[in-house]
Amino acid sequence: MNCIFNCLAFLNLIVFSFSVYAQEGKPIHIGIFTDCQYCDCPDKEIRFYRLSLTKLDSCIETFNSLQLDAIFSLGDMIDHKWSNYDAILPRFKHFRAPFYPVLGNHDYMIKKQYKPTLMNRLGLSRGYYRVDIRNWSFIILDGDDLSYFAPQTKMQKSERDDLVNDLYASMRFNGMIWNGGIGGEQMKWLKEQLTECQDAGQKVIVLCHFPLFSQGNHNLFNNKELFTLLVGFPSVKAYFDGHYHAGNYQQKQGIHLVNFRGMVDTPLNSFAEVTITADSILIRGYGREPSRRLGIR
Ligand SMILES: [Zn+2]
Repeated sequence: MNCIFNCLAFLNLIVFSFSVYAQEGKPIHIGIFTDCQYCDCPDKEIRFYRLSLTKLDSCIETFNSLQLDAIFSLGDMIDHKWSNYDAILPRFKHFRAPFYPVLGNHDYMIKKQYKPTLMNRLGLSRGYYRVDIRNWSFIILDGDDLSYFAPQTKMQKSERDDLVNDLYASMRFNGMIWNGGIGGEQMKWLKEQLTECQDAGQKVIVLCHFPLFSQGNHNLFNNKELFTLLVGFPSVKAYFDGHYHAGNYQQKQGIHLVNFRGMVDTPLNSFAEVTITADSILIRGYGREPSRRLGIR
């Protein structure tokens, strides 16, 4: 009798181990788009504001035809004006996979009276949070934490002003009003998450609207400080961002920095399906977004 119980327990262990292996070995598929920047206003230079609705519908149709684990918007859902959310937000409900928004500077280009209610309208309790999918963690940062558009407490204002003053003093030009930064409290939270992920053997991708080292003056206020923190954790494999519409890619000290191209620019669409396996991140670009195969450290 004992032998039967032992044999059954052993078989159970084998089945359990197989299912854990199958779960962890199974690739993760996510959808990414950024800077949809919809506005019911005339086109300006290469920005086709109204066309963003058609592009978004096409992106939703493609994403829904794929088996995705999650979809992330990397910020700037609208260009400005609260009423433009009326056309955008109901569309997000059509995604079949869970949808997670990252906040951008334009998202707060709305009248002062609406700013405190934005998070609630987006279904967020906080702009920074973490999404775990099997053995990967997606850490979403709120680059509007220190900002010239999002509501600021006295402490945030003083942190922001100190950072921006230091940037100008050292001739770094990412202190522009259209950029943003990560406050001390969020930085502390991030460090805790990274430590937890490292201890649990979770691999990490960080997502934020603002690039770290993209071209032009579109980088996060405290890009260097954030990067220094991230490189200290070998579990961090990539950093995904938007904001700089022309896009960019760099590999720095083993971390892939992928700046996805803005959907609003040019008549062509731009979004991507990202497949994450044990040893690589495969980006399948649609429209203007290039496809890439990135090996992970
Ligand atoms: Zn932006």
